[in-house]
Amino acid sequence: MPGSLRLSRGVVADPPVDPRVPAESHEKLEAWLRYFEELGLEEFYTRRKPNKTKTKPAAAAHRVTQPVQAPAPSLASPPHKAASAAAVRAAPPVALPLAPSPSLFERVERAENETLEVIQNHLGEDCTRCRLHKGRTRIVFGAGNRRAELVFVGEGPGHDEDLQGLPFVGRAGKLLTQMIEAMGLTREQVYICNIVKCRPPQNRPPEKDEIAQCSPFLYRQLDAISPKAIVTLGNIASQTLLGTNKPISQFRGQWFDFRNSKLLATYHPAYLLRNPPAKGEVWKDLQKVMALLGLEPKKRSR
Ligand code: SF4
Repeated sequence: MPGSLRLSRGVVADPPVDPRVPAESHEKLEAWLRYFEELGLEEFYTRRKPNKTKTKPAAAAHRVTQPVQAPAPSLASPPHKAASAAAVRAAPPVALPLAPSPSLFERVERAENETLEVIQNHLGEDCTRCRLHKGRTRIVFGAGNRRAELVFVGEGPGHDEDLQGLPFVGRAGKLLTQMIEAMGLTREQVYICNIVKCRPPQNRPPEKDEIAQCSPFLYRQLDAISPKAIVTLGNIASQTLLGTNKPISQFRGQWFDFRNSKLLATYHPAYLLRNPPAKGEVWKDLQKVMALLGLEPKKRSR
């Protein structure tokens, strides 16, 4: 057929050479024709009218005589790349094992062997991922033993924490220190962090979008430390990690599996400052943690 190119399996007819089309384009066109042949096209026709534009060869791909699911390739893209992509699409469907659906406790990808330093560097010293950056003085990343068996997770930094860049250093922090010491531990032996790393204005609870931005860093910290036990302090921390809207009073003091750790929710020390009788409940919770970790209560000095 004058002015047309016919390609049969194993046979590539010499196309009439249009002197206005660069030799390189001819080579590319030939590569595409071979590629379609490899896809199983028995015959391939393309009209090669005298062209005003250089894009006509690509348009030829739309006139394939057999259906091809792959989108028409462009001569601008390297044939081998498009060919391999098309080969993947043309391959018969293979039943791949499906990954189990993420549970409420597996919402963030795990990164193997990630260190706290890497996570902190990724967070950056001047994070602006959420609006809480506007009012903060310092980011409170977390503090303590990077190999701790016990991690405490609070809600967010308050006034003192914001100034010092350290978690739980105000009045509630002092009470937490007493709780830790009553368990026979020191602050340096545990790790302490929060759901959000910047102080919310007027110490309001962090909002959902702020938690969504910041908490992935917390999950990565918890994975990096991989403690035996995590104790969440208060409603926000407990609800966030357990993925529930239930009030903490409904699940306080119970063990949950959380990623590779056991998680127990208890009241926030700030709540205990306002409601001292609740200290007894918290002490019962901490005794469960001590039993899990094989800890003896600190002996009182006489
Ligand atoms: Fe970044 Fe977290 Fe601070 Fe938001 S709260 S600005 S995400 S460090």
